[in-house]
Amino acid sequence: MGKLIVKKFGGTSVANTERIEVVADNIQLEIEKGNQVAVVLSAMGKSTDELISLAREINPEPNLREYDALVSTGEQISVALLAMALLKRGINGKSYTAYQLGIKTNSSHSRARILDVEVSKINNEIQEGTVPVITGFQGMNENGDITTLGRGGSDTTGVALAVALEADECQIYTDVDGVFTTDPRVYDKARLLKEVSFEEMLELSSSGAKVLQLRSVEYASKFNLPIRVLSSFNDGEGTLVQEEKNIMERPIVSGISSIDSEAKLTIRGVPDVPGVAAKILGPISDAGIEVDVIVQNISAENNTDFTFTVDKSDAVQAENILKHTSDSLGGGSVEVDDDIAKISIVGRGMRAHAGVASKMFEALAASEINILMITTSEIKISVVIKKSEMKNAVKSLHDAFDLDKELDS
Ligand code: ADP
Ligand code: ASP
Ligand code: MG
Repeated sequence: MGKLIVKKFGGTSVANTERIEVVADNIQLEIEKGNQVAVVLSAMGKSTDELISLAREINPEPNLREYDALVSTGEQISVALLAMALLKRGINGKSYTAYQLGIKTNSSHSRARILDVEVSKINNEIQEGTVPVITGFQGMNENGDITTLGRGGSDTTGVALAVALEADECQIYTDVDGVFTTDPRVYDKARLLKEVSFEEMLELSSSGAKVLQLRSVEYASKFNLPIRVLSSFNDGEGTLVQEEKNIMERPIVSGISSIDSEAKLTIRGVPDVPGVAAKILGPISDAGIEVDVIVQNISAENNTDFTFTVDKSDAVQAENILKHTSDSLGGGSVEVDDDIAKISIVGRGMRAHAGVASKMFEALAASEINILMITTSEIKISVVIKKSEMKNAVKSLHDAFDLDKELDS
């Protein structure tokens, strides 16, 4: 018996009809090996970006039900084209939207969560030799409205489908050879990792490594489904993202991620009394704004400054909320700075090693990079710095922790 493989292809991998023909060849090869395949696709190239800018031309804050109805259309084009390319090869390719298949999500338009994937119908079809080609990124809520899963959401569709089908493998094809020690477009010394633990991948994805959407890693980890990240442009084994216990390598730092899409907000001179942090952050979270790094300064004369970061797209709203809060608390000015970047180093090996943070700070100091904020978790240390220093920081840290070199065992 062959294997059942779910293959997800990203935007660059289906950017034009030539690339779609390459994807069809990949699927044909798999079938010739005696395996069964179900496919999930992203929209072609940058078409989701184009749809989003169209929406914003009408309204910078579009109605989210209609936003989802619009941006989900990109995936409908790519799946139909691939099904045609498969049919041309004598393979019974058949396109499905999330609505036709039954990918049920909650109603959080533009960032919905998958609740259930209905697979009984395609299960039968796969047994009969059909290759279902399913739109990534989209779902439907209980009213039958179209939802989308957030940027990069096709990864999560791929993983959720693999879980629902109880597939033997989940392959995520992209435009780089797998998961690297850092974004290979930021530093050319980045090294391809053979394997990464779910735990590390969660930290990397949540701090900027967009090669896998965070939700897809959460989903895979919850159901213990290994993911293989591969290139649709080059042959190779790619990277296996899986449970920690199967992983032999344990370097102190496994990877570095960077992100420049956050803004830093500071509220000055708030009274340093119990409950003040809740009073500042409560209204922010009530507005549905996610807060990332938080720093409260040591107080001077019973007043303190409080700083946190949010996604840039939320900065204006957060600023307005903070101004209100400052007025009601008798605080001082509110400042916003979006000229920042966050660099994170991630590694399971940190648990067993002291001195990782100081090594990180020394490397940044040696490159004359000033640290604005610091935050740590058990296996991650993040710093906020000036945006112009982002690439330099990634390179300095990659060199300082020798990430270009394989670990000697
Ligand atoms: P797709 O369209 O295939 O989903 P994405 O653009 O979402 O592709 O993700 C792939 C990109 O992720 C790569 O082109 C690369 O620039 C970026 N990336 C960021 N961090 C990493 C990393 N650690 N390893 C590999 N790629 C990374
Ligand atoms: N097309 C969607 C996006 O660009 C989903 C994806 O590519 O995963 O975000
Ligand atoms: Mg992606």
